[in-house]
Amino acid sequence: MKITYAIGPYPSRRAQGYVIIVDTVGYPRKCPYNCIYCPLPPTQVKTLRPEAMINYEAILSDFKSIIERIGEGVKAILLYGTGDPLLNPWIPMIVDGIKRILRDSGVDAELWCITTGYMLGKEWVRKAVRLMDRVYVKVDAVSKDTFMEINDPISGVSPWKLAEIIKSLVSRGGPIIYVETTLIEYNGMTNADPGCLSEVYAFANMARVERILLRTINRPPRVRGVKPVSKKIIEKALELGEREGLHTEALQPHLNISYCRGVVVDEELLYNYLLRRPMTVVELSRAFSIPVTPITKLVTRLESMRLLERIPWRMGVYYRGVYRRTLF
Ligand code: SF4
Repeated sequence: MKITYAIGPYPSRRAQGYVIIVDTVGYPRKCPYNCIYCPLPPTQVKTLRPEAMINYEAILSDFKSIIERIGEGVKAILLYGTGDPLLNPWIPMIVDGIKRILRDSGVDAELWCITTGYMLGKEWVRKAVRLMDRVYVKVDAVSKDTFMEINDPISGVSPWKLAEIIKSLVSRGGPIIYVETTLIEYNGMTNADPGCLSEVYAFANMARVERILLRTINRPPRVRGVKPVSKKIIEKALELGEREGLHTEALQPHLNISYCRGVVVDEELLYNYLLRRPMTVVELSRAFSIPVTPITKLVTRLESMRLLERIPWRMGVYYRGVYRRTLF
C-alpha cells in the first residue's frame, strides 16, 4: 500500500464530469486556514511558508501513470487535496510537467486549482498559475469576526490584502479567476446573510474578479455543528451577486454523470481516494460504476485495518481515510 499523489477519477459538480486530483501537499496537512467546514481532519501545519513537500518527480510519475490509464474523457485536473496546493515550492515544475504529460498523451483536460490565494503574491507562483485554466480563490467572509470563525486563519492574513494580490494577477490571457464562497450556518451565525455576502461581493469587485462560485457543504464538516444552507438561500445569494454586477453561479447539488470505463478499484486506490474526500459507499459505487457489494467488501477490509474512519452525517455514513505514516 502506498500513498499516491494523483488520484481519481472523482465525479465533480464543479466540472459536471470527472476530474483527477493532484495533491501537492500530502500529510501532515498544511494550509493557512483551518476551516470549520473542511471535510478533512484539522490542519496540522498552519503555514504560509512553502517548505519541502512532496517532490515534483513523485507527483509527475503518479500523474503520468493515472493519465495513461484513465486520462481519456477526464474534464479537468484539479490541484487540491490535503491543503493549499500552491504551498509546494515545486509548483512551477509540477504545472509544467502536468501540461507536458497532457500534451504528450493527447488528453484534452483543463488545469484548475483551488487555493486560499496568499501564494499568488509570489512571482514564481504567478508564472505557474498563468499556465492554468481556472483558479478558485476561497473567500467565505471578509469581516474579521466571521472570517476568523469560519476560516480560523494563520495570524497576520487579511482578506483585503488578498484582494490587492489577486487584482495584480487578473490579466488578459491568464486563468479565469473565481471567488469561491462556501455558505454555511453555524451556531446561529451564517455567512449567507446579505451583509456578509455584500462584503464578499465588494471584495470580488475590488479584486477585479468577475466570477463567483457559490456552494454549500455536502460532506461531514470538521466541526460537527456546521450545517449546509438551503437551496432558497443560495438562490437569494445568486440574485444579490447578479445585482452587484457579478457573474454568479452555484454548484448544483447533484451530479448526473456515468462512468463506463473499467477502473480497477483495489484497496490502495480506495484508501488514497478517501484520504482526499470522504464518501459514502453508494457514492463510491456510482463514481466507479461498480456494484455496492465489492465496494462494501473493500471498505470493510480497510476499516478493519484502521485505515478508514466511519462518519455518520445527515442521512448517510461517510468513510474517510486515516493517514498512518508507519504503514508505508
Ligand atoms: S477547506 Fe481548503 S482552505 Fe479550508 S482548511 Fe480545508 S484545505 Fe484548507
